[in-house]
Amino acid sequence: MDMDILEAEESFDVNLPSKHTYLGDLREIHATPYFAQGSLVSLPYVFVPDVVLMPNQHIPINVEPTDLDLSHLLKDVVDVEQSQSRPGFVCMAADIGYEVQQISQTHPYFLFGTVAAIVRVERRPNGGEADEDDAGHGIKMIVKGCQRCLMTEAVSQDGDAQQFRYGRFRILPDEIMESPLKVLTPPEWRNALLPNFCPAYLSRFSPALYGPFDVRDLVAEIKKEIITLQLVPAERCQDDTDFSYWLAASLPLPAHFRLQLLGACSTVHRLRSCLLMLRNFNRLDCAICKVGLALKEDGIAMTRAGLTSAYINPGGLTQEIFTVKKVSNVRVFGQATTQYTWFPGYAWRHLQCRGCHNHLGWRYDALDGHLTPKLFYGLRRGDVVPNIQPQEGLSPAQLKEFYEEHEHAMMPVYYREPKSN
Ligand SMILES: [Zn+2]
Repeated sequence: MDMDILEAEESFDVNLPSKHTYLGDLREIHATPYFAQGSLVSLPYVFVPDVVLMPNQHIPINVEPTDLDLSHLLKDVVDVEQSQSRPGFVCMAADIGYEVQQISQTHPYFLFGTVAAIVRVERRPNGGEADEDDAGHGIKMIVKGCQRCLMTEAVSQDGDAQQFRYGRFRILPDEIMESPLKVLTPPEWRNALLPNFCPAYLSRFSPALYGPFDVRDLVAEIKKEIITLQLVPAERCQDDTDFSYWLAASLPLPAHFRLQLLGACSTVHRLRSCLLMLRNFNRLDCAICKVGLALKEDGIAMTRAGLTSAYINPGGLTQEIFTVKKVSNVRVFGQATTQYTWFPGYAWRHLQCRGCHNHLGWRYDALDGHLTPKLFYGLRRGDVVPNIQPQEGLSPAQLKEFYEEHEHAMMPVYYREPKSN
């Protein structure tokens, strides 16, 4: 074997994709909106089709100035106090119009969204800044998820000639686990309970019963499972709740499932659903014809965030992809090009499903023979579904248990606004 060639190989710099160099020069904005947990606030919102922004996740979006009043969102922040009071806006994955009451009956999880902060925004090629006069031309920006929320009402602002969309949002609290003691605790005492307080110590539950609800056990179990998925927690996870959001953002799950994970009523509920998914998912299939595309262990992290990352295509749509090192049952077509490439150093071509001809994503080939990996694939998250099957060799009784457990635990228990009479 030629050792010189091996030594000269250079691994792809996973910090590069998050710079979004294909968007040109981006200006940084430093401001993070913050609202009291549990409060009701009026905020403008935009919808980014099928993209579920999780707290702490960074995604690029393209905003039409006719959709959002950008005038105050894009101004520089002079002092910290001003940054605290800067209103944010909410990213929603589904276009719900004004049918909030109806949707709360049929698809309640469509009402979950995340308050977003603009962290970087494009500069115009002529040297000018993007501004609200750019009607007809979307403004590309990188946003960071801040706090999750639930829309309770869609409202239109009085005297708002442009009819920007506004909503009333409940800012959802982040709790490790809904404490069974909470209902028995007077509201003025609730804040005195320690965040890591374990209610089982005061309950009749045995540790074996309580174990599956212990956040530390859950995180330890999940860390064992994600090794198979070639998934390594991002450095920025500061606590178990952060970790649960990062995991929910990273797994190849359909948007409706991620919305339920976003709205899970506690960190424990979110982690339990993720763990069940991780244990039983063994393959990624085409979402339309269900042909097998990649195995669980085929994932390859091409960004610091892990296997999943989001980019804007030339049409202005945000595309989330799941990166894998090999795929089956696909056809590669089109000329290889580096134009608008999301991975500097790689040329892309289109991928099509052999079963149903649906466009599934892209194949990336390294331009430089020394760059590793030599090739990988980006599967569009909305076009693939995890194939969740019980392990082989289960007895009929175990299978029954699998499906029962699945039915109850796979979909997390999510936050619901108390009914008002
Ligand atoms: Zn297909």
